[in-house]
Amino acid sequence: MDINYIHSLFLKCKSVSIDTRKIELNSLFVAIKGERFDANTFAKEALDKGASYVIIDDESYFIDQRTILVDDSLTALQNLAKFHREYLKLPIIALTGSNGKTTTKELIHVVLSKKFKTKATVGNLNNHIGVPLTLLSFTSKTEIGIVEMGANHKKEIEFLCDLAKPDYGYITNFGKAHLEGFGGVEGVIEGKSEMYQYLSANDKLAFINLEDPIQVEKSRSLKAYSFGVNKANADVNITSVKANPFVAIDYSNLTILTHLIGLYNANNINAALTIGKYFRIDDVAIKEALESYVPENNRSQLLTKGTNQIILDAYNANPSSMAVAIENFLQLESQNKVMILGDMFELGQESQQEHKAIVDLLSDEDKVKCYFIGSAFYANKMEKSNFWFYNTFEEFSNDLPTTEFDASAILIKGSRGMALERTLDFL
Ligand code: ATP
Ligand code: MG
Repeated sequence: MDINYIHSLFLKCKSVSIDTRKIELNSLFVAIKGERFDANTFAKEALDKGASYVIIDDESYFIDQRTILVDDSLTALQNLAKFHREYLKLPIIALTGSNGKTTTKELIHVVLSKKFKTKATVGNLNNHIGVPLTLLSFTSKTEIGIVEMGANHKKEIEFLCDLAKPDYGYITNFGKAHLEGFGGVEGVIEGKSEMYQYLSANDKLAFINLEDPIQVEKSRSLKAYSFGVNKANADVNITSVKANPFVAIDYSNLTILTHLIGLYNANNINAALTIGKYFRIDDVAIKEALESYVPENNRSQLLTKGTNQIILDAYNANPSSMAVAIENFLQLESQNKVMILGDMFELGQESQQEHKAIVDLLSDEDKVKCYFIGSAFYANKMEKSNFWFYNTFEEFSNDLPTTEFDASAILIKGSRGMALERTLDFL
């Protein structure tokens, strides 16, 4: 069916839905076949619940003139999104990277909202379905669109850029996540760089973090607007970055004190500041926006228990986020420090090497008490008076009551499966 015609029907609708449990009145329902369900079977229910039209790809579920029959519903959704994006012609900023996309997206959103009617990806809807849904949420009233793009294999970012046709792009970092799907770090770099290729081929602009040598290297041929810390050649030169434990940055005459923990978040904050400057938002408004943002997902929580200050980051861990969490913790100003680190999962063949790298990273550290929990860390045991290794959480917790924690700062980080939040019961 003609995309122009489908788009004219879409414009009469209030929203797009792919889930009949969350359907809104006057929406367009797109029936996508999933692994477990064939949403064609819900088309009738969608209309009964108030959808104006349904897109299906199995003619046996045809209902009435409100049914739009296509060859493949997912492709139709993507084509519709692409068409809509070209129809609106609004400026779009796209974000990808291994870590920090959602945080950066939210920060850019609060900053740009100070001056523009801005819409951004809701939550983490960043894949081949989420990006089309995001594009279709933009209206003729939207002045700037912000689109998070996720990927766990090559060619995905290329595809998403072709849909969203971003005018601006930012890659948060090239880290060690989804190593299996990308085939190693080189694969991650190649995969994320597809965004730079899109920007370069279409003469669009990239925001570049001069602190990241890979970004600098990969973006050489691009139109760029850059930022850095004490980098005189940067378009936006941030003069100081601290995290104790909340990130504070100095820029021009401003000190911006955020609600984000961890030095790694400084990159995310600096990126949002830079994009705000590019779009000529005034400094005080940028400061207000960045200071008002409180993360919802609580992935790095700051807790106080007794005399202990605890950074609980037990939601997830991969080699990059583990390394930045450790580096951040080491630079905190505190006399007594304890690290409780759990295994990092889903690393495939690189598991041994990556756990060893974390132990090695700490090998010069004599003051911080380091507890390593899990079989992968245990296999890389190192003899050191401030190191303890345990095969299982139970072994660790049995040992714990005899250990004196006179600590004032404790970092707890490990993969979800390690459930290190259990440590809190003992502290
Ligand atoms: P997802 O792949 O789940 O969409 P994301 O890229 O959107 O992740 P966030 O949800 O913003 O990332 O942050 C997830 C975690 O990544 C944080 O809790 C933190 O540990 C780590 N992180 C955030 N920003 C950075 C960064 N700039 N560099 C390295 N690690 C970061
Ligand atoms: Mg995300």
